[in-house]
Amino acid sequence: MTPVAQMTPFSNEPFADFSQPQARSAAMGALLKVNAAAGREYRLWLAGEWQTTGDLLTSVNPSQSSQVVGRQHKATADLANKAVEDAWAFFPEWSQTPPERRAEFAFRTAALIRERKFEFDAWLVSEAGKTWPEAEADVSEAIDFCEYYARQMLRYASPEALLQLPGEKDEMVYLALGVGVIIPPWNFPLAIMVGMTVAALVAGNTVVIKPSSETPVIAAKFVELLHDAGFPPQSFALCAGSGSVIGDVLVEHPKVRFISFTGSRDVGLRINELAAKPRAGQHWIKRVVAEMGGKDAIIVDREADLEAAITGVVQSAFGYQGQKCSACSRAIVDEHVYDEFLANLQARVAQLTVGPAEEFTNNMGPVISSSARQSILNYIDIGKSEAKLLAGGGPAPGPGFFVQPTVFAGVAPKARIFQEEIFGPVLAVSRARDFQQALDMANDSTYGLTGAVYTQNPDKIRRARQQFFVGNLYINRKCTGAMVGAHPFGGFNMSGTDSKAGGPDYLLQFLQGQSIAEKL
Ligand code: NAP
Repeated sequence: MTPVAQMTPFSNEPFADFSQPQARSAAMGALLKVNAAAGREYRLWLAGEWQTTGDLLTSVNPSQSSQVVGRQHKATADLANKAVEDAWAFFPEWSQTPPERRAEFAFRTAALIRERKFEFDAWLVSEAGKTWPEAEADVSEAIDFCEYYARQMLRYASPEALLQLPGEKDEMVYLALGVGVIIPPWNFPLAIMVGMTVAALVAGNTVVIKPSSETPVIAAKFVELLHDAGFPPQSFALCAGSGSVIGDVLVEHPKVRFISFTGSRDVGLRINELAAKPRAGQHWIKRVVAEMGGKDAIIVDREADLEAAITGVVQSAFGYQGQKCSACSRAIVDEHVYDEFLANLQARVAQLTVGPAEEFTNNMGPVISSSARQSILNYIDIGKSEAKLLAGGGPAPGPGFFVQPTVFAGVAPKARIFQEEIFGPVLAVSRARDFQQALDMANDSTYGLTGAVYTQNPDKIRRARQQFFVGNLYINRKCTGAMVGAHPFGGFNMSGTDSKAGGPDYLLQFLQGQSIAEKL
């Protein structure tokens, strides 16, 4: 156990460099082990026991769709209810566990993920179709969340002194909330799940994890690790199963105090609506932390370093096949540099290689599933009717769910591919008359997650700071790749509740402040 007394200031976990033979051979060794476990069954962890139901969810490798990565037992509605009841029963004990002790479990979780980093990378390559550098960034972020939230909890455990009224002792303490349902997405299958879970646990809540049905094996591996890290076995439950079957059961349960959700706008809004209605026996207003979709824009000004802007757009649009909530799906380019931008962008996109995620030479792997690919291809068809196809425009060959990096030019602001989240490697490029019109176009969205501006003009940077309405604004850099501690993450508008994951205020969402005044 890492003693809290030996804690160093927080810093980000360094990334392995897969251009080096040593990292490559460690990665391939880990992948062999992961492949050897292909097809294994994973149980539910519920009510303090490993449980099976015989009703199995099959998870396949999106790079190689005939390969089964694993099979996960699915919870029934009864088991989902039991998971909440059991988590509620253990809440008094866990919430009274000293914060220092809870922080030590989080530090231990970070240490164990670090020890098994290449193995987790390999699970992400295999089950989520991440290339090695993308997997490494995801696993490193998971470590960062544990390290960061452990330190933040210690900060809340010793809050700032209040004004002391004469003849009184005045203080504020932070209490845990209760049982939280943790509902992560598949696109950061380790980092987001770990961050949401560990934040709630370290704050003294008990949790029921409802993982994404696309990446259940990564969730099962994490739950095994929570055991190894020493978190009390009743402080967490793994309640896998289809969101449409057990999601409502968990969200509506009267003993659930909060729901921590990351995923699509429509599911987030549904959870928010269901959670707002009090149920028989419920004693509180449920809190909903919902981080949702994006339609993120990069503005390229006439005074931009064009080369840097093109690099930023390509990385943000096509990293992890465009399946990041922060992905650039709109490039809004000043008409003075529009033609040059398009010509250079086209040349850069033509160099991108698409294929199995485990091959180091591929820039892009598959999209997550056959249905995701179909939905992306449908949007590509819509794009063909709305704008000019500049690159890509269809599936890419291979044994998995591959899609070509696709670029549309001359996209009008009211076009569907300008307004709707596609969640795939599809970039809409639009022309703006000037910087003000570019800002107005970028803000013409129901979302407001990330955005970036490339310009060398300080006055335009100032205007972007004032007017670009997004939760995470980047200037002269790409709009993906938020780092824990430096870029607290969360969006405006329909992008969510702006929880600012990886920031100093995040834990407050899983705590309630109690003010105590004692007459002396
Ligand atoms: P999703 O379809 O909304 O699913 C997210 C989670 O919700 C999954 O665990 C899913 O379970 C569950 N779910 C589905 N229906 C539910 C219901 N009725 N009740 C309770 N839970 C339910 O999203 P996704 O496809 O996994 O992720 C992609 C989306 O997440 C994109 O929109 C992306 O922008 C967004 N995202 C946002 C952020 C952010 O920080 N703002 C970060 C990452 C991703 P099943 O898998 O079993 O359906």
